[in-house]
Amino acid sequence: MNINGIYSAEVNDDIITIEEETDDLITRGNIENTKEEPESYANKQLQTNNPILSPTSNSYSVAHVQDASVRVRNFIENRGRLPNFVTINNRQVEMADFLYMLSTTTLNLHESQFGPIVQYSVMGPISSFDQVDRGNIQRVEYLQLAQGINDRIAGSGQAPSYFSSSRGVLGYESLIHLYSRINAFYFTHHRLPNFANVSPWTGEKLPDIPPVPIVSDYKIELLILGTGGDVTKNPEINEYIPLTSLSEVIFEYAMIGTPILEFGDGDGEKLLILAGIHGNEAESNISLMKYLEYIKDLNFQGTIYAIPFAIPYSTSINSRNWKGQDPNRNANIPGTPGWLILQYAQDNGVSYILDVHSGGDLTDYSHGLIYTSTSKEDLQWANYINSQVGSAVEQGSPHLGMISFGARELGINTLTLEVERDLGCTLEWANVQFEMIKVACNYLFAELI
Ligand SMILES: [Zn+2]
Repeated sequence: MNINGIYSAEVNDDIITIEEETDDLITRGNIENTKEEPESYANKQLQTNNPILSPTSNSYSVAHVQDASVRVRNFIENRGRLPNFVTINNRQVEMADFLYMLSTTTLNLHESQFGPIVQYSVMGPISSFDQVDRGNIQRVEYLQLAQGINDRIAGSGQAPSYFSSSRGVLGYESLIHLYSRINAFYFTHHRLPNFANVSPWTGEKLPDIPPVPIVSDYKIELLILGTGGDVTKNPEINEYIPLTSLSEVIFEYAMIGTPILEFGDGDGEKLLILAGIHGNEAESNISLMKYLEYIKDLNFQGTIYAIPFAIPYSTSINSRNWKGQDPNRNANIPGTPGWLILQYAQDNGVSYILDVHSGGDLTDYSHGLIYTSTSKEDLQWANYINSQVGSAVEQGSPHLGMISFGARELGINTLTLEVERDLGCTLEWANVQFEMIKVACNYLFAELI
């Protein structure tokens, strides 16, 4: 267990007390109860009856939860693993229940609600996955994560194996450590920390997630780690991408990073389609997912690599930018998502790319718009789509840092597909774009017509 640097400066002035080494059962004398607010303030996230998650008859004061969080934090840092339970008010609380109490307490404290915290029976995960870059998570984000954890537990009755953050994937163990530290900080300082440091979990942990089996006629793997997020948090994604055996697998992978899928028999032309390099262009994700549903059981000569969510985290929060930058303006910089996608295309002998977007002020283009370079091959490809779907074609030179610019430099034919994003019906625009993708693929793969 690596303890150095786990604390940010913000959390670091909290002196670590060395706990007695009794295994699991770490009890302290009674602590003073804080004045408790009326019952109605308790666990605001779960006031409705939830058939999946049942409350125990136990509830604890915020001070009790925080005192326990100090002991859990110390146990983790002294022993390099999670305790099996923590004793609160003479009761043994298992870690999955405790995680839910920690995230709820964190959210309640943020809203200055100090009512008792109800203990729910939460199933522990059987696996975990931790792949995080050392660094800080700001308060706004750890609050979002806490809400996400609560939603997940409320919806499934089970604590998550991992949760994605801007620093990468935080495993179950790291989540408990993180929220123990945040609540322990509050215990000492009477306020939430402005940020909390995270670093890779190096202690004992649950087994890694078993790999998802290959389903149907496609392969899926993670192309980029650390970009993951719950894309179904995006209301348009949630509403317009139906849950299927395919989308469920993709959403699951997208929690961890950028999934890439491979369709076709591997011979012939190689095309890469990507959507969502900008996370606020849901039409692109919806149209590509619809196309993947369309081809998922088809065998054809050729290869289609598909990236339905280039930066799932951005999609989850409907943000154009990634880490404060436009990811379609820094694809020339090594290590950025755009650069990694281009690298993959080059390494795999891709000779065509469809970069799928949506944007404002495009209502005039009722059949969509295609941006193409002045290369003859790009133009022919674009004109074919125009002849079948009626999409407008605009020729121009892409800017440095765009995927289309980098692809051009690698000699990869590239079209950028656009439809309206802000006006009209999302699904109708996504359907226009679906037709564009379909015809663009027909041009390369005769069997898909
Ligand atoms: Zn875009």
